[in-house]
Amino acid sequence: EAKKVRNSYKYFNQEMYQKSMENSDIEHQLRHALDNDEFYMMYQPQISSDMQIYGVEALIRWENKKLGFVPPDKFISVAEDNGMILKIGEWVINRSLRDIKEIWEETGHKFHISLNISVIQFMEAGFLEVLLDAISEIGIDKTYVTLEITESLAIEEFNYVIPLLNKVRENGIEISLDDFGTGYSSLSILNKLPISEIKIDKQFVDGVLKNTENSLIKTIFSIGKNFSFKIVCEGTETAAQVEVLKEHGCDIFQGYHFSKPLKKDQLIRYIKDFYDR
Ligand code: C2E
Ligand code: CA
Ligand code: CA
Ligand code: CA
Repeated sequence: EAKKVRNSYKYFNQEMYQKSMENSDIEHQLRHALDNDEFYMMYQPQISSDMQIYGVEALIRWENKKLGFVPPDKFISVAEDNGMILKIGEWVINRSLRDIKEIWEETGHKFHISLNISVIQFMEAGFLEVLLDAISEIGIDKTYVTLEITESLAIEEFNYVIPLLNKVRENGIEISLDDFGTGYSSLSILNKLPISEIKIDKQFVDGVLKNTENSLIKTIFSIGKNFSFKIVCEGTETAAQVEVLKEHGCDIFQGYHFSKPLKKDQLIRYIKDFYDR
């Protein structure tokens, strides 16, 4: 028994060690990533239940010479820890809004753009000004802009965050609650949040065809409907899921069934093909 404990202790430490080495590599490489132009954006289509392109979610990508492709799940938290998320987040806003305006013009179709906003970025003084400046400089209609925030943001810094969220809303920008159902998900705060949309996490979409999880999914949908939130289902991978989710009242689908995240040129092609059919 003692040996087992020792072993798991050893493994635990090796894993911790590896993780921290990996993170220090990431942190080191991240410092020059913006200057070296190593980031790019991809856009994943969101399809409404009446089969129109409702919008896209902007997802950052990082390709580094030494580390290769590093997924956002690995580097965003590092960038949050060392504060680099502020510059990266600003870059994401500017790149995405410029791209989307071009795509609107190129395709003749207007659609929403959803931006993932880190807690740290959202809480930074001047965040809203940065966003509004970018919107007016680029000259896009701000009612098409949605910010995706996570439940933990809303809950952790409740008193500070609510007025900020209200300001965002007063400016005509929509707010979406990301990864809905995975966090603390306190019903008592939902009616205090000025959000217009919830994104049901992939884990619930995965479970939608299993009878055992039906009541949980029903509950999530009825909460969303009660508050008149738009309901986005993320990670929708099959036609069978789409069918059942539609019956539950899903408004917007996002996932590999419709499309993986696309580069700008691929998205333009996708939109043209979508409306040509
Ligand atoms: P998220 O906001 O929950 O984004 C959804 C993730 O699910 C994306 O992973 C997307 O590529 C993936 N996905 C979409 N449809 C499917 C599907 O049908 N099946 C499967 N298996 N996966 C699907 P990605 O792009 O790797 O992003 C991971 C996370 O990194 C995001 O989770 C978000 O929290 C964060 N992130 C991405 N881009 C940004 C950004 O620009 N800023 C910030 N702050 N965070 C970002
Ligand atoms: Ca998101
Ligand atoms: Ca999500
Ligand atoms: Ca997620």
